[in-house]
Amino acid sequence: MNLHILVLPGDGIGTEVTREAVRVLHAVAGKWHHRLTVAEGLLGGVAIHKTGDPLPPETARLAADADATLMGAVGLPEFDDAPPEKRPEKGLLGIRKALGVYANLRPVRAYPSQLDSSPLKNHLVAGTDMVIVRELTGGIYYGTPRGIFENGAETRAVNTMTYTRAEIERIARMAFQLARGRRKKVTSVDKSNVLENSQLWRRVVTEVGREFSDVELDHLLVDNCAMQLVLNPRRFDVVLTENMFGDILSDEGAVLAGSIGMLPSASIGDRKPSGAWTGLYEPVHGSAPDIAGQNKANPLGAIGSVAAMLEYSFGLKEEAAAVNAAIEAVMQSGKVTADLRPPGSPATTEEVGQAVCAAV
Ligand code: NAD
Repeated sequence: MNLHILVLPGDGIGTEVTREAVRVLHAVAGKWHHRLTVAEGLLGGVAIHKTGDPLPPETARLAADADATLMGAVGLPEFDDAPPEKRPEKGLLGIRKALGVYANLRPVRAYPSQLDSSPLKNHLVAGTDMVIVRELTGGIYYGTPRGIFENGAETRAVNTMTYTRAEIERIARMAFQLARGRRKKVTSVDKSNVLENSQLWRRVVTEVGREFSDVELDHLLVDNCAMQLVLNPRRFDVVLTENMFGDILSDEGAVLAGSIGMLPSASIGDRKPSGAWTGLYEPVHGSAPDIAGQNKANPLGAIGSVAAMLEYSFGLKEEAAAVNAAIEAVMQSGKVTADLRPPGSPATTEEVGQAVCAAV
């Protein structure tokens, strides 16, 4: 298969972890005889330094041409007080929008070797294996009218939570299709006891669910879901929810698994002419200025994002499973970075990347 990948290393540890992720990509391509082309582009603080723009038009063009995009992280402390248009994070929202990725997938898996890093008791978190599917381009973060309307004591702030039937249908279909390849269970999360928006969400998800009679569907109110995630995380297979609820629940899900450095994410849109699914893959963590340039960032979130890319954009399930198995093997060997608190001296970012390649 031809794999045409754009890499956007970004800032801070983004450059360090993507280097290892690309190393793993080359190892997979070599073993399974795929033809890999890797282009590199500018995004975030480094792009502002070189072009004045957090998302230069050339980067958007490269992303449109590539089959899939692998991103590191953006953000530099020197831009903390910059106006919104000149902040590295603007590039992140811009690239998501440019690619039209409307579904954010975050796998949450409790690795047996890392149970002690979880804030939950081992017996609660052991066996957890879910994917949170969050709608990414609609809902209250994008709805209008919005704004602060100044009027003395009557000053009002307004945000609008809005979804169309079509927006709910496409994300629901994605969740059900994903569930078919897993344990065949979708839990849809809403607040339909209070919000009309959620009532439409529940109605449309139920209708789409009828097309997938082999997949079990249940509904949870978002407050109950927040509680069940820590009481009984094993009950979840695919969690489907709208933008803001997903933003909150996916961070709650993230801490179940231990270190933030281990968590991959995938944002998916429609199919490309090449047949690949449009996808933007990135670790969940940021640019971590506190440890940047020290070769000690955990690259497993970025490497897990490569596994997600192989599976979701290219349908290469065997290769994806091999990368995930290699991550698990390396964790069990204890050759991990300091954030995972290994018994002996911690491995460097580069050593972990090399170990994953060897295990692949
Ligand atoms: P962060 O995720 O960068 O760091 C939080 C803490 O986790 C830090 O102590 C860091 O050292 C640690 N950490 C993060 N990733 C790690 C890894 N791979 N290995 C080991 N330890 C790791 O979040 P922050 O400090 O809130 O933000 C720093 C910058 O990153 C900010 O500019 C922020 O806007 C940006 N940010 C970007 C993204 C993104 O690009 N998707 C996401 C979150 C934050």
